[in-house]
Amino acid sequence: MRRSGRLTPLGVLRDARRVLRGGLPAIEARQRERLAALLQHARAHSAFYARLYAGLPQDAGLGSLPPVAKAELMAHFDEWVTDPQVTKDALERFTARQDTIGSDFLGRYVVFTTSGSTGEPTLLVQDRRAVAVMNGLAYARPPYVHPRVLVRMMAKGIRAALVFATGGHFLTTVMYARRVRSVPFRRRYVRFFSVLEPLAQLVQELNGFRPAMVASYASGLEVLAEEQAAGRLRIAPAIVASGGEQLLPAVRRRIEDVFGCPLMELYSASEATPLTLPCRWGEQHLNADWFILEPIDAASNSVPPGVLSHSVLLTNLANFVQPIIRYELGDSVRLGAEPCHCGSPLPTVRIEGRTDEVLRLEGPAGTVALLPMALGTVVEETPGVHRFQVLQTGPAALAVRVEALPGHEARAVEAAVLRRLRAHLDGQGLPGVTLAVDPEPILVNPKGGKLRHVLHAPAGRGQ
Ligand SMILES: [Zn+2]
Repeated sequence: MRRSGRLTPLGVLRDARRVLRGGLPAIEARQRERLAALLQHARAHSAFYARLYAGLPQDAGLGSLPPVAKAELMAHFDEWVTDPQVTKDALERFTARQDTIGSDFLGRYVVFTTSGSTGEPTLLVQDRRAVAVMNGLAYARPPYVHPRVLVRMMAKGIRAALVFATGGHFLTTVMYARRVRSVPFRRRYVRFFSVLEPLAQLVQELNGFRPAMVASYASGLEVLAEEQAAGRLRIAPAIVASGGEQLLPAVRRRIEDVFGCPLMELYSASEATPLTLPCRWGEQHLNADWFILEPIDAASNSVPPGVLSHSVLLTNLANFVQPIIRYELGDSVRLGAEPCHCGSPLPTVRIEGRTDEVLRLEGPAGTVALLPMALGTVVEETPGVHRFQVLQTGPAALAVRVEALPGHEARAVEAAVLRRLRAHLDGQGLPGVTLAVDPEPILVNPKGGKLRHVLHAPAGRGQ
């Protein structure tokens, strides 16, 4: 396969299968070849990397290159990207519009926005090559589903419900919009449901859709399982899938028990999709022919397989327009020390530490569960918000910590956040919940530098 251009999903699919047959030597050969091409491109076309690598020899190995942080890259966005027509200003205008979700930027790039798990808002641009890898790998190495489950899915009408945040250029919303646009018929089988809707309405819509598959955040499935156990949600999926957040074992068992079906875990990052895909043993296999993960400790030294890391560096070998090379992802991960039972030569990886909490608040009609992803989206999509935290400070009380972007007046941003939260809580049947601004600074978990966006206030606070 050539280094750039002319790369189609079919080409990716064929190559991905060849790599599996070739085993570890084939994976390593692809990594070497693709890394060399990426580094050469970044040095030649990204002013940011040209400067960063200026004193380093042309053949410097990956491990000797300096790691990069999201905040630093976003601060030098126009120098980071390799196409001068892609600018932060133009992308911010593009992503501020709703009618552009899923459209190609400049007719050739797919754009995502994400807060990422460390809380720095990021603009992500994928070139055609990266999109071909995204589609080709998903077909070459489909997530394992037991044949019995497939038969059950068919019998139930195949319909898939995607329950995620809407209203922004997120990975899920953008890819859904693109798939439906290319094949409108898909809308009958795959439907998007917003976690921002009032829960009672969401439950009613899901009852009407009767999905054979439900995909959501771990916390979304947790709340839906509660609704199902209470008898309000009455669906019978053949499989449920969780992604984006860490799934605790007890929560997983509860979800599987309540829905009476298996749960499939998916782990990805907007910066690298599909970063991993699950095998029939439930292990997440890293697509190491396209993405390199380097687990590191707090002093940035590499951590061996089997040991939980402090953070992890990502290199995306697929995307040339916005080179991601030793990019600090912030997740704590553990690479498998032993080969997987399934026989795949791709390394396995487990991710820990993406844990926002489901908040339960008292309202006039009883307790209402609030999804962290919905609360987070309401706050994050407020103009001027840089970083934030939402805390539950009492049975019917929330507090927010907000950092405004430069050039925005903090008080005005806080007031706008409170207004939007008030409207969201009203919609969820929680008009009496008190809202306040917490003057404390935002706390980042010292382990991995993770920012938890939605959490219970520590005991003794806000009583
Ligand atoms: Zn496996």
